[in-house]
Amino acid sequence: MRTKIKSILQAKNPQSLVGKPTTVCGWVRTLRDQKSFAFIEVNDGSTLANLQVVADASLPNYAELMQQLATGASLSVTGHLVESPGKNQALELKAEQITVYGSADPARYPLQKKRHSFEFLRTIAHLRPRTNTQGAVTRVRSALSYATHLFFQQRGFLYIQTPLITGSDCEGGGEMFRVTTLEKGGDYSKDFFGKPTYLTVSGQLEAEIYACALSDVYTFSPTFRAENSNTSRHLAEFWMIEPEMAFADLKDNMECAESYLKFCVRYALDHCREDLEFFDKFIENGLIQRLEHVASTPFVHLTYTDAVDILRKAPKKFEFPVDWGTDLQSEHERYLAEEYCKKPVILTDYPAQIKAFYMRGNPDGKTVAAMDVLVPKIGEIIGGSQREERLDRLEHKLAEHKLNREDYWWYLELREYGTVPHAGFGLGLERLVLFVTGMENIRDVIAFPRYPGHADF
Ligand code: ATP
Ligand code: MN
Repeated sequence: MRTKIKSILQAKNPQSLVGKPTTVCGWVRTLRDQKSFAFIEVNDGSTLANLQVVADASLPNYAELMQQLATGASLSVTGHLVESPGKNQALELKAEQITVYGSADPARYPLQKKRHSFEFLRTIAHLRPRTNTQGAVTRVRSALSYATHLFFQQRGFLYIQTPLITGSDCEGGGEMFRVTTLEKGGDYSKDFFGKPTYLTVSGQLEAEIYACALSDVYTFSPTFRAENSNTSRHLAEFWMIEPEMAFADLKDNMECAESYLKFCVRYALDHCREDLEFFDKFIENGLIQRLEHVASTPFVHLTYTDAVDILRKAPKKFEFPVDWGTDLQSEHERYLAEEYCKKPVILTDYPAQIKAFYMRGNPDGKTVAAMDVLVPKIGEIIGGSQREERLDRLEHKLAEHKLNREDYWWYLELREYGTVPHAGFGLGLERLVLFVTGMENIRDVIAFPRYPGHADF
């Protein structure tokens, strides 16, 4: 039986493991050959730290091992755990048998000890999970995914799966990838689905169908946007979490979004301590303190109108001017969260003209019940709204947005039969991972990033 290195290095009581026969498997991070014995640092991905293996020359295949083992080689070690005389670790594994699965030629293996740039590592996405940073990102991403399910399941939300291929270009028009089996395009009635189809930009409209039947649901799915934005915050393929709640208004939506973000941050603080300490040390100084602050203090609430006032009075020159009725740019969002509030802020009640048709109209006739959650470092991490549940208003909005009533027949019927106030939001998983790890570029928090000109691996 193979033991995970994490269960050795993070054991509550390491003393109790002394003398225990143990087998670990993993990859060599470093090898220090001291002639009569060798230290082998082994990592199996379960935890950031390496297990120190001591191999001495009495092993029958010792000479051969010293030939085969180098950074990157894979192996299995069986032996006994002993107290380590070194001060870096409580335990080490005294090897009695070592099997090499595969060597890695030091003259060719790209991941030697020196630090590599994240740009270079993207070109070797098949090997970069073996680096400390990618290992830590992957573990935190996994924990945040699990925390997401925990949070919504504990609140009684149903996890639903909405389609990735969609026939309604309900949302982003130009931002959609087309799905076709036609070699040259042309007559889409002859295409696979008999009509134009796309990769989804959001599961929201379908999630609304389920919320209007089962009350509280959430999706957790790949999402595709062909926006040609070469930024450190956008991907062409990303993962979105979209809860949708029936019998809920904007206030309920804000409460859910804030609780969810805090839950995820707290979960990472409690379960990914070693990785967060690594990020705090090498990626963003003060990360853990920032996260503690996020998890323990209430978010700021501001209306869009107040935010515009604040931005216009800001002692700062922005690249894009701010005027009531224009969409906020990332520089504005970051100023509000990072400098003005110094913590996450929920902006509400945006002008109707810059938001989607489905957002519920406010009594002032000018704004809609929209909310964006803005956080330091990232800007927008969540976008959501209360949905328009009144049939006549929704019909008006469709006309105003020059959308075809017929394309939305089922969306309208949800309002015709047993309509309910409902609300929801979308959070991009990769933006959450950026926020929690302090990483700078979204391309480094997804295993195989897709962005303009790049769909490798
Ligand atoms: P932005 O203004 O930052 O481009 P958006 O307003 O287009 O985002 P929404 O349609 O509100 O985004 O999507 C909900 C959430 O999905 C966003 O708050 C963000 O966390 C995430 N998201 C949106 N677009 C992308 C993208 N291209 N890559 C990664 N995450 C994204
Ligand atoms: Mn948005």
